[in-house]
Amino acid sequence: MLTTHIEHIGIAVKNLNESIKYYEEIFNLKCYAIEEVKDQKVRTAFFQIGETKIELLESTEPDGPVGKFIEKKGEGVHHIAFAVNNLNGTLKEIEAKGIQLIDKQPRNGAEGLEIVFLHPRSTYGVLTELCEKK
Ligand code: ZN
Repeated sequence: MLTTHIEHIGIAVKNLNESIKYYEEIFNLKCYAIEEVKDQKVRTAFFQIGETKIELLESTEPDGPVGKFIEKKGEGVHHIAFAVNNLNGTLKEIEAKGIQLIDKQPRNGAEGLEIVFLHPRSTYGVLTELCEKK
């Protein structure tokens, strides 16, 4: 696997607009995109910091993955996403090493990325996303 950088850090929030304001006013960052990912029942907002982004996640439905996460653990860091080359090959490689995958196949994430999630059981408790630009 060739991991090139941390693509983004996903943060679960209850209120997207309020948390956007926090990052804009306190950190002087600019939200450059808001996007709904229907698949995952979330609205996302993005900030660029160097090569890395902050991805704020607000659940659009209580039973979505982010809604359930907040109910169980509260707001906070939800996942870390690593940018990799050759996502398909990488998937086979790490599955062969016994890492438990949530997605067996890459699927569409926000920002035109192909993504897969690895199960936190296999990753020392961190919900881990791998992604590649299509
Ligand atoms: Zn993500």
